[in-house]
Amino acid sequence: MAADGKTGQPSASGWLPVLAERRSGIGLRLLFFILLFSSAVTLLSTALQLYVNYRRDVGSIERRLDEIEKSYASSLAASLWNLDVPQLKVQLEGILRLPDMQALELRELNSESANPLTVAVGRHAASKTVARDIPIVLAGGGKRPVIGMLHAEATLAGVYERLGDTALLILLSQGVKTFLVSLFILYIFHRLVTRHLEAISDYLKRYDLRQPSPPLALRRTQRAGKDEFDDVVSSFNHMSMGLQLAYDELREVNAELERDIEVRRNYEARLLRQAHYDDLTGLPNRLLLLDRLNRAITEATRENSVAALLCIDLDHFKNVNDTLGYRAGDALLIMATERLRACLRECDTLARIGGDEFFILLPGIEDDCGVQAIAARVVDAFAQPYVIDGHEHFVTASVGVTMFPTDGVEGQSLLSNADLAMYKAKELGRNRYHFFTQEINRRMQERLVIERRLRGAVARRELLLHYQPIVDLRTNVPGAFEALIRWRQADGTIYYPGQFISVAEDMGLIGGIGDWVAATACAEMRRHLCECLPLRRVAVNVSPPQLRSDRFGRHIERLLAESGLPPECLELEITEGMLMDDTPETGINLKLLCDLGVRLSIDDFGTGYSSLSYLQRYPFDTLKIDRSFIAGVDKPNTARLVETIITMAHGLGMEVIAEGVETAEQLAFLRQHACDFAQGYYFSRPLPFSELEKNLAAWEHGKI
Ligand code: C2E
Ligand code: MG
Ligand code: MG
Repeated sequence: MAADGKTGQPSASGWLPVLAERRSGIGLRLLFFILLFSSAVTLLSTALQLYVNYRRDVGSIERRLDEIEKSYASSLAASLWNLDVPQLKVQLEGILRLPDMQALELRELNSESANPLTVAVGRHAASKTVARDIPIVLAGGGKRPVIGMLHAEATLAGVYERLGDTALLILLSQGVKTFLVSLFILYIFHRLVTRHLEAISDYLKRYDLRQPSPPLALRRTQRAGKDEFDDVVSSFNHMSMGLQLAYDELREVNAELERDIEVRRNYEARLLRQAHYDDLTGLPNRLLLLDRLNRAITEATRENSVAALLCIDLDHFKNVNDTLGYRAGDALLIMATERLRACLRECDTLARIGGDEFFILLPGIEDDCGVQAIAARVVDAFAQPYVIDGHEHFVTASVGVTMFPTDGVEGQSLLSNADLAMYKAKELGRNRYHFFTQEINRRMQERLVIERRLRGAVARRELLLHYQPIVDLRTNVPGAFEALIRWRQADGTIYYPGQFISVAEDMGLIGGIGDWVAATACAEMRRHLCECLPLRRVAVNVSPPQLRSDRFGRHIERLLAESGLPPECLELEITEGMLMDDTPETGINLKLLCDLGVRLSIDDFGTGYSSLSYLQRYPFDTLKIDRSFIAGVDKPNTARLVETIITMAHGLGMEVIAEGVETAEQLAFLRQHACDFAQGYYFSRPLPFSELEKNLAAWEHGKI
């Protein structure tokens, strides 16, 4: 169909083909109904018309017969009276020539003869006739006798023929007229209605809210008044505008929604990432590690294979953070991650679960040897120094190894096994790997029992102090006593500090325990020594968390005031390693203690960090040489070392105490090298004060 490019309307010349198309359904139906109706009307009016014509023609025949009766009866009566047969024939033939006349028969009546006269013309027809019997009356005289009877027959064939012609004419003319009118109506209907409907339909088919199109317009001549199509077009355009606005709004809302969804999706992805990965190194975190561990366990169980879990902790990493700052610490962790990655196979998982603690999951392991090789490789990976800000730093690693299914069958227990094994590696001197053993596990169980019982030990009065004399080598008399804590169990067994002090530190209970030790030591020393002998010093061990607490200095000040012990009679023993952990609080506390006049000593000298710079910073009064050195004075190197330490301490104005003196030879060596004090089993084991008192008099009289 020819269509207008813009509006999709059929062109005016294209309306006829419309009939042939499915789309002209309304037009065809209209045509059909017009034809049906007009045919019915035509038939009806034709029938009426024919009936009228028939009546008229039959009436004119009747009138002709009347005319025959009126005009021809008297002349026929005269001829009949005279029995003039030829005349009668002439007369009858004359009548027969009148229109529609078919046959005439004149019969003589009242004749006495056996053969009355009968004259007939025309041919008698069986049907479609109108007949009449006309009496032939003799005129003249008073009587008017009927002398004959004329039977006149007129045919209706002519009438029927004319009716047929008329019907044909009417039907033909009406049919043609109806057809032409129908076509005209169809054309008009198409012009006025269907082409616009099609245009609307085409427009609607192409209508797309996503691509704004010009408003709907029909190709019509503009008129003053509005018609239905104008209403439809304006209503549709109005609706389309509303739809467009609603669609735009919807699109905006949708875009906003999509943005929201995108933000939410990113946020969820970030959350998911944060939930499973470590921010700094990008390694899986504890959650993801546990998930992979559980999967590895399932797989190993199914395949009857072995898996291993390594826990790696960087040794003294805290020192890096404290001395170089967190940025350097982070850089080191990233470098450590790279080194660890280099030790792994494709299928292994490296995770960081916080601080300087890493885990390596090794699925599908053949035997222990393979794990040992990887663990050794991990330790070796830390042999090279790290270069941070242009300086080399050595950070070693301690590795704990646990195996599935030998050591445990659950993810959590394998994690803690590896952790415990790592602590064991640290205990054994760090920079090594150690496999988890049941012994470690047993000790862990013990530790759990200790943890449970340690809380409330002070309140239950289970703690006590033993004292060990520190003998002045110039006078051979104890110049001080070191207070050493003991923990009595319900069954009477005594726990030594090595069994529970670190647990108390980890549990945050050392503050309360330390307070109790200091208070008890001050009070006991004050009571006993004041009464019996010249006042001696008491040495109290201090834990790192105590020294870091901002209330420690003030607490000691208060204790001294309460107990009445002169400050110079209290010596606080601080391990060398603790001074490396140089927090501002440590400095403030040490300064306050110095100001109070409390003596400070360095405990276990030689076992801690190698830097001696703290000796410049804090005014220590005493240096205690660790017993490991004293035990080795029979070796020339160690002897020289101890000698040097004594000289150095004296050079710095400090007194020197040798710890762990067990033999006369050791004592002789110390005397020879002018060591000031000695402490050890050679003189006495740590004892309760009541027992020490028994020995005090003997010591006073030089019987040591
Ligand atoms: P430390 O301060 O170096 O105390 C000396 C340790 O050496 C004591 O062990 C003592 O019994 C032991 N010892 C003394 N002479 C000898 C000897 O000749 N040979 C041998 N092999 N050992 C000797 P103890 O009592 O088990 O204390 C161990 C550590 O626990 C102490 O080492 C100290 O650092 C800590 N400690 C003890 N009491 C306390 C306390 O009240 N508070 C804190 N924070 N730590 C304490
Ligand atoms: Mg000590
Ligand atoms: Mg010591």
